[in-house]
Amino acid sequence: MTRALGTAMIVVDMQYDFMDGTLAVPDAHAVVEPIAALASAVEHVVLTRDYHPADHVSFSDNPQFVDKSWPVHCVGGTEGAMIHPMLSRLFDGAPMFSKGTDPNAEAYSGFEGTSLVDGERVTLGDYLHDRNVTRVLIVGLATDYCVKATAIDSISIHDFDTTVIADAVRGVNPVTTLIAAGEMTDHGVWIASSETALRVGI
Ligand code: ZN
Repeated sequence: MTRALGTAMIVVDMQYDFMDGTLAVPDAHAVVEPIAALASAVEHVVLTRDYHPADHVSFSDNPQFVDKSWPVHCVGGTEGAMIHPMLSRLFDGAPMFSKGTDPNAEAYSGFEGTSLVDGERVTLGDYLHDRNVTRVLIVGLATDYCVKATAIDSISIHDFDTTVIADAVRGVNPVTTLIAAGEMTDHGVWIASSETALRVGI
């Protein structure tokens, strides 16, 4: 398969806690196969991760599973914060952008993340622009929070041609997931199946 030049796949928060841990997203395992299939079709793959301090502002003792009321999840250095073993080997060595590291601030968008690349701390946006990326595919978890925020920043702030891959994302809640799809579409984000994305050459 030829790789689509100028296209990057952003793999959002495919971490243990969102797959099987404290904040497991329903049906999350279903996204692994389409993500793996797309990986060989794009020029660049980058990962984001939620990477919180133990006293992060979003944590609640009585979590409501809505914005600002989550169970403890993805604490930096713990197993829950690691990329799930189903994907970690495939993406070994891919640049990893960490977000949510400030104890007092929530960060859903991967574009709020930074990574150490060749000894220098860079933002996700700069990393992609520096590599002449023009088109972005977004996959991962969860559709109604971090996928949505990443997709909207991708098109609104960075002007990337942005597609969310429907079968490679899952949401926390069906209602907010439906609303998220509308919000993303309103911003000009495409939502397409991985089959369509691969067929049209991404
Ligand atoms: Zn979080």
